[in-house]
Amino acid sequence: MPVEMNALAGLQPQTAFVPSSSRAAGTAHRRIRVEDKSVINSKADVNQLVPFKYKWAWEKYIAACANHWMPQEVNMSRDIALWKDPNGLTDDERRLITRNLGFFVTADSLAANNIVLGTYRHITAPECRQYLLRQAFEEAIHTHAYQYIVESLDLDEGEVFNAYHEIGSIRDKDEFLIPFIDTLTNPAFKTGTPQADQDLLKSLIVFSCLMEGLFFYVGFTQILALGRQNKMTGSAEQYMYILRDESMHCNFGIDLVNQIKLENPHLWTAKFREELTGIFQKAVELEYRYAEDTMPRGVLGLNAPMFKEYLRFICNRRCQQIGLEVMYPGASNPFPWMAEMIDLKKERNFFETRVIEYQTGGALNWE
Ligand code: FE
Repeated sequence: MPVEMNALAGLQPQTAFVPSSSRAAGTAHRRIRVEDKSVINSKADVNQLVPFKYKWAWEKYIAACANHWMPQEVNMSRDIALWKDPNGLTDDERRLITRNLGFFVTADSLAANNIVLGTYRHITAPECRQYLLRQAFEEAIHTHAYQYIVESLDLDEGEVFNAYHEIGSIRDKDEFLIPFIDTLTNPAFKTGTPQADQDLLKSLIVFSCLMEGLFFYVGFTQILALGRQNKMTGSAEQYMYILRDESMHCNFGIDLVNQIKLENPHLWTAKFREELTGIFQKAVELEYRYAEDTMPRGVLGLNAPMFKEYLRFICNRRCQQIGLEVMYPGASNPFPWMAEMIDLKKERNFFETRVIEYQTGGALNWE
């Protein structure tokens, strides 16, 4: 069955936030104190950014802005020449590129819709909302970048943009995500009960740890492997910038999840953790199937079985970041060069080290 993405399009906004100016006449005005703020279910006015409570979110907003880039700044001429050269790429490399783009051209639209029509409404900390606004724009830039690659290479747009309907391994990943997006975008959904708050937390975890934190990684590795072999270097450069942004999206999401856990410890039950583990396991399987589908044979020194180990390694990392038991003890990273690029080791989360390291310029290292 095709994924019903259009469900996202016709949503009516949930009951709008009631600004303090609409308080009943005579209600006493009191200035916001830091202790009034909370990430979900806050009673404090969401229009007031300060006093700051969640400085980690504000710092990520600043860092994200410092990383600003646009797709047209990247020179695509070598990619165009290579793609047009009948001997420039093997059939397997061409399949890998088109299937890769087939996932990504719609993935960031899903992410953007999830933020704008879903997540944003339920997060009541203005510092976090500020980052989400920046993130939403970055998702638009990513969709733009993928479209720019498709246009530069003169690929069949209908084929690439419909891959999420037509290619099973891509459709399955998106169908897995849809129920979690639907939870947040449902106009009737409201936080404030333990069940609803757990549903919100679950969707946030799925998006940060699995969509942005796992489902992107086969695809990123593939295109960066091409770049390392001096092929499709313009596309690879675009992906490097996207990867830098996505790694911050993932880390922001994880910090958000940990902040909600800290403020609402009753949500983190054994039953809930068990459910999450099942969801993580399913995501690892889906991403592995995507690896097999995009690489039916070894290509670029990569093959699907290497990704089995890699996905388990990344999944363990995501589990650790949100306080779940590691699921695949002993899994190691078969792509140490990706660790350098993605900086998995240097990914700093507020709750782990309280140190945040970010690149602030355009300098990208290929080694
Ligand atoms: Fe993202």
